[in-house]
Amino acid sequence: MSIFSKIAAGEIPSYCCASNDEFYAFLDINPMVKGHTLVIPRREVDYIFDLTDEELGRFQVFAAHVARAIKSVIPCVKVGEAVLGLEVPHAHIHLIPMQNERDMLFSNPKLQLPAEEMQNIANRIKEAFEKQ
Ligand code: 5GP
Repeated sequence: MSIFSKIAAGEIPSYCCASNDEFYAFLDINPMVKGHTLVIPRREVDYIFDLTDEELGRFQVFAAHVARAIKSVIPCVKVGEAVLGLEVPHAHIHLIPMQNERDMLFSNPKLQLPAEEMQNIANRIKEAFEKQ
């Protein structure tokens, strides 16, 4: 079981932002900016482009709903989307609230936010997601 499967199953704690039967969204533990969120399929697939066409469609729509929720609570110009998957072998989309293109540079130093602030950000995203 991948670390992200354990997170989606609730076996490892995470700051949950959105969830349904098929997908799970949670804050990146080392965010590039406040509100940096990861979206995963519950089905364990390493490489995103090994998902079926139908899964990819539903995954992207779910990620769009999460991105709208992020944008409504985190001041930003747009929410950027990126897929790397070089570190964790479980497909995931990064959603990153951007002020400018430099916010998408994965070589940037990562933030360390207090647990209380992470929980507050996740709660606000979840509330906005569930209102849609
Ligand atoms: P990638 O695989 O896309 O190169 O990077 C994996 C991302 O997952 C990184 O941004 C990293 O901070 C995040 N990450 C790795 N392990 C965990 C974890 O246990 N919990 C959370 N919330 N994020 C993680």
